[in-house]
Amino acid sequence: MLHGDDGQPKDVSECYCGCIEESKPLLNKIVVLDPGHGGIYTGAINYGFRESDINLSVALKLRKKLARLGATVIMTRKRDVSLAPAGSTLDADLQARVDVAKTSDADIFVSLHVDDVPNINLLGPTSYFPKGRSSGLAYAIQTSLVNGIICTVDNGVSPADFYVLVHNDMPAALIELGYLSNPSEALCLMDNTYQNLIANSILNGIINYFLC
Ligand SMILES: [Zn+2]
Repeated sequence: MLHGDDGQPKDVSECYCGCIEESKPLLNKIVVLDPGHGGIYTGAINYGFRESDINLSVALKLRKKLARLGATVIMTRKRDVSLAPAGSTLDADLQARVDVAKTSDADIFVSLHVDDVPNINLLGPTSYFPKGRSSGLAYAIQTSLVNGIICTVDNGVSPADFYVLVHNDMPAALIELGYLSNPSEALCLMDNTYQNLIANSILNGIINYFLC
């Protein structure tokens, strides 16, 4: 996490964009952003909100911020669509996301999701890395999210065998941004300002991963 003079987490995108226009710390970095679900695969639905919409909205914000700092950003989807043709299996949709990453020569793959569980009291982000491989990217993003959101719960970093993690060769992380099952957090996750806060935090995590 980068900090300003007042000790508070620094909004790196604003700084580099507003003060040091020519500074592009992520130049030559290729980032694949994977907004989870989409189209017929909505992911979780709670309180009238759809996970796929939150994932996409945060990813589009993050894409802009990454691009401002020089990164080349490749999105697995930019609209509310599934990636595999109609009638395909879920695995085909997930493999299509992996294929995007594999053909892009990317440095990192970041998949965005939102959790949904029966216990409506759970809240906060959780980050996952591919089982048996480096936790560095997930750890950098999780740390930055917890520092950035401030009033939240740190659910930590865990290994996982999610399809898009284990079928990718590059450093990868799957981020559960929060819990759609928690009524308060669900409202936050749909909020434009909160989505920007999350996107800025993930941006800081990615910068720290590459530069620290
Ligand atoms: Zn999901």
